[in-house]
Amino acid sequence: MKKRALISVSNKESITDFAKGLAELDYEIISTGGTLRVLKEAGIDAIAVDEVTGFPEIMDGRLKTLHPSVHGGLLAKRLNPDHMKQLEENQIETIDMVVVNLYPFKETLEKAGVTKEEIIENIDIGGPTMLRSAAKNFADVAVVVDPTDYETILDNLKEDDLDFAQRRQLAAKVFRHTANYDAMIAAYFQAETDEAFPETYTVTYEKVQNLRYGENPHQEAAFYKNVLDKSMSLATAKQLHGKELSYNNIQDANAALEILAEYDNPAAVAVKHMNPCGIGIADNLSGAFDRAYDADPVSIFGGIVAVNREIDTNTAEKISKIFLEIVIAPGYSKEAFEILSRKKNIRLLELEMKRAESVNHKLTTVNGGVLIQSRDNGKVAEEELTVATNRKPDEKELKDLLFAWKAVKHVKSNAIVLAKDKQTIGIGAGQMNRVGSAKIAIEQAGGKAEGSVLASDAFFPMPDTVEAAVKAGVTAIIQPGGSKRDQDSIDVCDKHGITMVYTNMRHFKH
Ligand code: 5GP
Repeated sequence: MKKRALISVSNKESITDFAKGLAELDYEIISTGGTLRVLKEAGIDAIAVDEVTGFPEIMDGRLKTLHPSVHGGLLAKRLNPDHMKQLEENQIETIDMVVVNLYPFKETLEKAGVTKEEIIENIDIGGPTMLRSAAKNFADVAVVVDPTDYETILDNLKEDDLDFAQRRQLAAKVFRHTANYDAMIAAYFQAETDEAFPETYTVTYEKVQNLRYGENPHQEAAFYKNVLDKSMSLATAKQLHGKELSYNNIQDANAALEILAEYDNPAAVAVKHMNPCGIGIADNLSGAFDRAYDADPVSIFGGIVAVNREIDTNTAEKISKIFLEIVIAPGYSKEAFEILSRKKNIRLLELEMKRAESVNHKLTTVNGGVLIQSRDNGKVAEEELTVATNRKPDEKELKDLLFAWKAVKHVKSNAIVLAKDKQTIGIGAGQMNRVGSAKIAIEQAGGKAEGSVLASDAFFPMPDTVEAAVKAGVTAIIQPGGSKRDQDSIDVCDKHGITMVYTNMRHFKH
């Protein structure tokens, strides 16, 4: 009896060559609508699946191959006499090979302006079902899901039939493929429905690139992207110049992007070790960069700078004077690119700047599992602030306070930021006590601290931070409030004519 292969593929790459090869090996070819057309056009002899099923393809292809004549032919164990007898009784013939690749669900999701209907329509039903039937019965059936396997399979078939191990390997590939395919669908529905934390949590990650090493040279690493995440991501950044990104580069650059997303005006952010070391905003980019640089000319060395406007010549000249690992911008003027790309070791990335909002969860691994939380999208508007002290902030203080508050959200706790005139001037990060971070921030600000404002990511458990701020010449403070000992801090403020406002929201970042 002639061997039979069922071919039904969305991705029609190389399919005619493969089918031709099978036909030459005397396979009878069964095929579905679109695939059949392509094969016929290439002069390949094939029969329509409805000739096998005696049932038409209906509902725009939703129903093509879901039929006992197909699945009986795939699932029957050839060495089981009962199975074979039942096939005969039901006039079903065996099918020896399935060649299927699925509706492009992922590619559809990624399409700009795609509708929900289109996404749903691209959930393949018959394809995975055939793949699974054939893969389950790999002892008797060969199943091909990957076009890059066509050539090897033909070569092998020319020698002899595929052996057990080869068929098992093909089946393993199929189950990996269908599992991923379904996971992507599950993740899509998870994001669409309101169930925030379902009993099992599905994410599919796809490799962006292998990395030379991890945080340290003795660690191995790779960069994966969340298939469903369409937010601003380094995975979609275009690298225009310089060496490959490292693991630490990606983390730092990501931190820079998250900070940058806070600002609409021309802004520049310098990042070191996932903390900002300088943030500046201005009416133009060059001014913003000046402020980010002047904020801490020491720490920026070897850091990352991200900006939210196309880089112009003027800014490029300034940037090129310092050693930076990475520059990220939505674009570069021709001349700016020329100036910056003269530096061999700088990495220049281009990335459209938009808010990171489509995937609302943040995952952190812990031993044996993962912690999942919604992102810290918390924002505080001017009218939501409550004034705790006798004195209210004036207009300038208020602006600086809100600027400092946006910055402190992105500094590791305990976080203290001193700011003045749309510029951070001192940042204290990651200390185990709050006043420790305050001291670092104040010291770094030096003489600039006079007339500045101070932001704290969480409340003051005691008045020591306020006392240090007073000494440094800070005139206004922004913090969440809510400590049992708030009054102690208020008293210090009032005594020195300092104003303090509460956000009633904290921004721990550990
Ligand atoms: P064609 O281009 O040949 O018309 O369609 C090929 C695609 O249809 C393949 O991706 C295959 O997985 C899918 N397919 C095959 N049978 C069925 C079925 O019964 N229902 C659905 N929804 N898709 C099928």
